[in-house]
Amino acid sequence: LGTPAAAALEDADLATLLPRPGAASDKYSRGVVGVVAGSAQYPGAAVLSVAGALRGGAGAVRYVGPAHEEVLARYPETLIGRGRVQAWVVGPGLGGDRAAEAAQALAEPVPVLVDADGLRGLDPAVLRARTAPTLLTPHAGEAAALLGVPRADVESGRLAAVRELAGRFGAVVLLKGSTTLVCDGRGPVRVNPTGTPWLATAGSGDVLSGLAGSLLAAGLPAADAASAAAYLHGLSAGRAAAGAPLLAQEVAAAIPAAWRAVHGS
Ligand code: AMP
Ligand code: MG
Repeated sequence: LGTPAAAALEDADLATLLPRPGAASDKYSRGVVGVVAGSAQYPGAAVLSVAGALRGGAGAVRYVGPAHEEVLARYPETLIGRGRVQAWVVGPGLGGDRAAEAAQALAEPVPVLVDADGLRGLDPAVLRARTAPTLLTPHAGEAAALLGVPRADVESGRLAAVRELAGRFGAVVLLKGSTTLVCDGRGPVRVNPTGTPWLATAGSGDVLSGLAGSLLAAGLPAADAASAAAYLHGLSAGRAAAGAPLLAQEVAAAIPAAWRAVHGS
C-alpha cells in the first residue's frame, strides 16, 4: 500500500540533527521561536509549550497570549509579545475557535507548527499556498476532525491517515499516539521508537510542540524537526518516568539529560 513505513531514527541520527551552537553564534542565529498558546482556561499549556521551546535550544522564546504572567513566573527568560521569529508554534491551550491566531502566523513566510486548537478549521488552500514549511501535530482526535472522519478510522488506519493529511494539507504531519508517525508527503513515513505510556498525561503534547518549534527555528527541515522532537521527547519521558507516573513539566526538565545522551556531551 504505497511507500512502506521507514525505519525509525536512532541516537546517531539525533547526534547529527540536533543543533550545536558555533563559537560565534548568537541568540538570533540560534533561532527565535514564537509561541501562540494558552487561554484563561488553559494557561498551563502556554507554560509547557514555552518550556519545551526553551529546552529545545532556541536562542530566545517569544510568548504571545493571555498567560504571560504564568509564563514569566515560571520562565523569566521569555520575551513577551509579537516580533520577529524564525518559527511559530500556534495552538496549545488556545481554547475554542481561535482560527485568527493561526491565520496570522500562517501569513508569515517562516515555518509554522500548528497544534491542538490551532488545528480547528484549518484551510488546506491556505497551507498549500504557503512558501515556508508547515508542521501539523494532531493526536488521533484532532486528525479525525481535520479529515472529517470518525476517530476510530484514524485509530485503525494511522499510516493512511498521516499520509492523507500530509497530502491534503501540503504539510509535514506528526501524528501523535502510542507510536508517533511523521510524514512529509513524499518519503516513507517515519515511526518514532522512543516513549512510554506514561506520556499519556495532560500537557505532554504541549511540551512536544515547543520542542519541535525550537528545532524549526534552528533551521531544521520540518520532517527532521518533527522526528528529532518526537525522539527526544520520548527519550526524555522514558528517563524521567523510569517506570512511575510522569508530569509533563518533568518531560521538559529531562530534555537536557536526554539531549546530552544522544549528542555525546
Ligand atoms: P497530546 O495528545 O497533545 O496531549 O500529546 C500526548 C503526547 O503523549 C504525544 O506525544 C503522544 O505521542 C504521547 N502519548 C500518548 N499516549 C501514549 C502512549 N500510550 N504511549 C506513548 N506515548 C503516548
Ligand atoms: Mg495536545
